[in-house]
Amino acid sequence: MNEKTIAFIGGGNMARSLIGGLIADRHPAAGLRVAEPDAERREALIADFEVQAFQENATAVRGADVVILAVKPNRVADVVRELAPQIQAQGSLVISVAAGVRCADIDSWLGGDRPVVRAMPNTPALVQTGATALFANAAVSNEQRDLAETILRAVGLIVWLDDERDMNAVTAISGSGPAYFFATMEAMQSAGESLGLDARTAHLLTLETALGAARMALESAEDVDELKRRVTSPGGTTAAAIDELEAGDLAGAYHRALHAAARRAEELG
Ligand code: NAD
Repeated sequence: MNEKTIAFIGGGNMARSLIGGLIADRHPAAGLRVAEPDAERREALIADFEVQAFQENATAVRGADVVILAVKPNRVADVVRELAPQIQAQGSLVISVAAGVRCADIDSWLGGDRPVVRAMPNTPALVQTGATALFANAAVSNEQRDLAETILRAVGLIVWLDDERDMNAVTAISGSGPAYFFATMEAMQSAGESLGLDARTAHLLTLETALGAARMALESAEDVDELKRRVTSPGGTTAAAIDELEAGDLAGAYHRALHAAARRAEELG
């Protein structure tokens, strides 16, 4: 993996996260090449990571084992068509992180039967705590799967999907999910303030509790319903709060929310 050359098309937030993660994983900066039209961003990439940064996409892609498409979804078709002959000639693996752009479309812009991995990371990838779903088309070899997995693992957890259609469910749970937790934190913080805490105290206690609960759930062998049961003594303070949340149909609200997000992902995709 360390000897592989990886070219990023687009040097924005997601590319910077992946580059930061790969360098933290000791991938040599000399093997990382970035195409970025914005001169200031190119300079920042060179200064921050010591990678090679180019104005031209074709220059960055030259000799690359992996080409990572990290431009906005509406730019993917043009970028892929422009690079198709070069990618075909080199046999590079293409990994797209563009939301909602299907593998089959990327493959057809590449000319067909090319190895393409579609990745759906989420925004916590920006702080190396992402959750990414991956889907590989039939042309991707086992070695290329391992390569894609190693790259995306640099920014957090990865899971493989057997069916690309499940990307809509992934979008609903982890893609859009950070916002649900931000909304919950906002509501908890505001309720804490209404109980008399100052904003900063309510904010810090809310965030640390969210982080602690997630870490406990990840490190525990028990399911979250069991963890919830253990901290909810009958007649106690937690039970009083949980009763209110259940009366407000928390589970039903999440069910409706995730289904709405998945439907929207299907409409947009
Ligand atoms: P961004 O705007 O920060 O970065 C995109 C970069 O591409 C910019 O620096 C831009 O100058 C450059 N660019 C524009 N046109 C180009 C071209 N023709 N050739 C090469 N580079 C070009 O966006 P981002 O947040 O990094 O998102 C990139 C992709 O990652 C998107 O497709 C998005 O769907 C996906 N994604 C991002 C996140 C996230 O948390 N930021 C999460 C999931 C998926």
